[in-house]
Order: sequence, then C-alpha cells, then structure tokens
Amino acid sequence: MEQSYDVVIAGGAAMGSATAYFLGANPDFDGSVLVVERDPTYEKCSTSLSFGGIRQQFSTPENVLLSMFGAEFARNAGDWLEVDGDRPDVSFREQGYLFLATEQGHPILEENYRMQRELEAQVELLSPEQMSERFPWLNIEGLASGCFGFRNEGWIDPYALLQAMRRKARALGATYIHDEVVGIAKSDGRISGIELRDGGTVRCGHVVNAAGWRGGKVASMLDIDLPVGPRKRMAFVFDCRDDLSHLPLTVDPTGVAFRPEGRQFIASVSPPEDQDPECDDFEEDLSQFDDIVWPALANRIPAFEAIKMTGSWVGHYDYNSFDHNGIIGVHPSVDGFYFCNGFSGHGIQQSPAAGRAISELISYGGYRSIDLTRFGYERIADNKPLKEANVV
Ligand SMILES: Cc1cc2nc3c(=O)[nH]c(=O)nc-3n(C[C@H](O)[C@H](O)[C@H](O)COP(=O)(O)OP(=O)(O)OC[C@H]3O[C@@H](n4cnc5c(N)ncnc54)[C@H](O)[C@@H]3O)c2cc1C
Repeated sequence: MEQSYDVVIAGGAAMGSATAYFLGANPDFDGSVLVVERDPTYEKCSTSLSFGGIRQQFSTPENVLLSMFGAEFARNAGDWLEVDGDRPDVSFREQGYLFLATEQGHPILEENYRMQRELEAQVELLSPEQMSERFPWLNIEGLASGCFGFRNEGWIDPYALLQAMRRKARALGATYIHDEVVGIAKSDGRISGIELRDGGTVRCGHVVNAAGWRGGKVASMLDIDLPVGPRKRMAFVFDCRDDLSHLPLTVDPTGVAFRPEGRQFIASVSPPEDQDPECDDFEEDLSQFDDIVWPALANRIPAFEAIKMTGSWVGHYDYNSFDHNGIIGVHPSVDGFYFCNGFSGHGIQQSPAAGRAISELISYGGYRSIDLTRFGYERIADNKPLKEANVV
C-alpha cells in the first residue's frame, strides 16, 4: 500500500532534523512528517565533520540573526530538546570569535561591525594595541584591527546537536527511515509525492530539500537548477606545548582559522574560489598544512611555531557557488517544494533558525520570526546575488 505523509524531508542531519523538530513542536501544525535519510550513521555528512562554530560576525544581516538564534538555542539546548527528563548538552564553549583585519580589510570589518551592533550583536572593534593587551599570545604585526564577539560566539559539538534534535523530533512524532529520495513527483504545479531507492513511493504535499551538499542533485529531480554542490575542506588537528585552551576561534587575514579543541587545536583554510572545484572525494592533502596553514599559524601566534600535527580529516561544505548564502524558502512555481540548502560553511549554527523558518512556511505560509524573504530561490532565478563576504 502506498504510504502518505503531509511532509517529507529529504536528509535527516542538522537541517532535516531541525525542520522535523520545529514542525513537531509547533502546536499549530498537526500534520505527519517523514524524514528520509540515506545514511543514518551520519558518518560522512557535513554536520558530523563540521567545526561547530557559532558567530554573529557576518556581512548579511539575516545571517547575524540566524546565528544569534543558533547561539540561544545551543545555550539552552536542554530546555528545547529535553526528552523524558534527559536534557542534552551540546557543549557550547562561548569563547568568542576574533576576526583579524589588515589595513586593506579594515573598512569592511568596521562596516560589518556597525551593522552587527545595530542588530545588538555583542561584538567589539579593537585596535592592535587593545588586542595586544587583551590577547598577549597574538602577534599584531600587519594588523589594523580585530573584531571580537564576546557573547553568542564560540563552538558546539555538532554531532551532539544533530542527535539531540533528531531524538526530540522523533519523540514529537516524526518518522525516520533509512532510504534515499530518488525521484519527486508533481502534479498541476504542486508536489504530489516522492520515490524511494527501495522502490516504494510516498504521497505528500510538501518536500523539504535538506540534502546538504547533495541539495543540487535533489532539486534536479524536478529539473530545478540549484547552485549547491560539495567543496572539499581539510581539518588539521595539532598539539601545542603551551596551554592556550582559552583562545577564541581566530580568523587570520590569510583565511586560516583555528580554535582550541580540548587541549589540542583544529585549523583549516578555504582555498580561493578559482581553486575550489566541485569535489566529493575524501582524499587528504597534507601539503596544505605545511604550505599554507602552519606558516600562517606560526606567524600569528609565536607559540604555534613549535606545534605537531596529530590528525586530520576531510569534510564537504554544502557550497552555494552563486552567492555563499543559505537558500531558504518555497520554490516560486513548484508549490510545496522547500529549499534548506547552500549554507556554505555556516550551516550548523543556522540549523535551528533555518528549521524553524521552514516550519513557519509550511505551517503558516509565511515567516513569523526572522524574515528570510531575501534568502529565497527567487534571487537565483532573477540572477540577483546576495553575497555573504564573511565565508570562513
Ligand atoms: C570541515 C567543515 C567545517 C565546518 N564548520 C562549520 C562551522 O564552524 N560552523 C557552521 O555553522 N557550519 C560549519 N560547517 C558547515 C555545516 O556543517 C553544514 O552547513 C551543515 O552541517 C549542513 O547541514 P545539512 O543537514 O544541510 O547537511 P548534511 O549534514 O550534509 O546532511 C545532509 C543529509 O542528507 C542526506 N541525504 C542526501 N541526499 C539524500 C537523499 N536524496 N535522500 C535522503 N537523504 C539524503 C545525507 O546522507 C546527509 O545525512 C562545516 C562543514 C565542514 C565540512
């Protein structure tokens, strides 16, 4: 017998589980939710391989607001996601983000800082001297300023967040199955159902594309062009003799970013756009550490001159090559097809607010909390990018 659900979510990691959770938690939504996940081990998805960073320091106001909610959600995850008295802890380390700028980058840093302050983000702009005083471990040579987020910024355990949202979504009635969405059907401009890899079909009125870097592939099932695909990122783990576990997540003007991970550290760098091809393999390139990451680390933090790499891994950004911002909303001409894609390296922190946004669209036909109209697919169809400059 053909199954029937009101909402089918393709992908059950951070975005899919956040959407399922917020639908289930909304007293105004009384529909049924099916989450289809092709790999319930979550071993290779972006969520599990993420750094888990949360920051307000973006150039697009909507991103500031999305992440501020993410920080609030992470801080109070036990309240939001409690199941049978078990209150999850997603290990939010609120140690801040420190964005560093050279003379050339300073005007942009300052402009972003002003916009972030207008939105009541708790960030402060620091001169090199102030940074020297506050962060004695930092080499300020070549720096014109820094912006430090002293609240709502830091990092979480992304896998813990995923598991807690998933568990709560199931407790609220969502059904999760191990399968893959391989086809999507529409009739008269409306979603009518999906096909599964195991041969089954499911009737439904809403499909949410929460397939991470496979989001472009899922959209193509409806012949929709979505500029989202995988971009490989290496993460390097290293040891340092000095105890610098109190450091904020620091973003160097070279693009190299690092943060403590217990007594160790993790670091990475995104390549320039023209050297960043679509790529879904997991092959490691350790020369990136020797050639780019380590020289930048040693230059910025003298104590990092004597570090030892102890591990590494590869993950993939769910990269929106059009303008590096999330694509959220319903398709303008396929009623019932929702995008929750393309977060380009900042999706963990935005998953609670993005899931809430999709649940509002499904439940009310419009946004109730953060107005994300500008993040809609229309900007892609109209070729009007809304570029996010602060992609780390
Ligand atoms: C190295 C690295 C560091 C990062 N650091 C940060 C950070 O510091 N802060 C931050 O906010 N973000 C960060 N990110 C980005 C963040 O991890 C992602 O934006 C976020 O996890 C995306 O969540 P998602 O659920 O959309 O995608 P994913 O986690 O990739 O999940 C998609 C899921 O969909 C499933 N799926 C795909 N296709 C189908 C289908 N057809 N049918 C059924 N299931 C399907 C997949 O199996 C997968 O489980 C980082 C990412 C990486 C790789």
